[in-house]
Amino acid sequence: MKSYRKELTYNTKTRRAFLNITPQVDAALKESGISEGLCLVNAMNITASVFINDHESGLHRDFEKWLEGLAPEKPHSQYDHNGYEDNADAHLKRTVMGREVVVAVTNGQLDFGTWEQIFYGEFDGKRNKRVLVKIIGE
Ligand code: ZN
Repeated sequence: MKSYRKELTYNTKTRRAFLNITPQVDAALKESGISEGLCLVNAMNITASVFINDHESGLHRDFEKWLEGLAPEKPHSQYDHNGYEDNADAHLKRTVMGREVVVAVTNGQLDFGTWEQIFYGEFDGKRNKRVLVKIIGE
C-alpha cells in the first residue's frame, strides 16, 4: 500500500469564502501516483470546513445566508466564546459544514457523484489556514 500526504494553504481576502479546491486535490492525486484507494481532505483549522457540493454561485450565496441565519457573526457579544476572540460564529459554521470529506479513487480519478466538487469553506479568514490531503491505496 502506498501513502501520500500534502498540505495546501489558503488565505482568503474576506472573513468568509467558499473556494473550489478540486483542481489542487486532483493535482495531489496525480502526484501521489495512486490509482485505487481513498482520498481524505480535511481542514486543519477549527474555523474552516471542507465539504462536497455543487459549484454554483447561487447555492453558495444560499449557504452564506443559511449559516448567517443559524449563527450570525454579529453582535460578537452574543457568544460566550468571544472575548479574546470574535470568531464563535466561525466555529459554529464550521461544525455545521463539516471537517472533512473522503472520496474514492478509481482508475486514478476522484470518483465523484454527479456535479460533486470539493470546497474549502472559510469562516474566519484573512490569515493562513491549512488543508490536509491524505491518499492511501496502490
Ligand atoms: Zn475561537
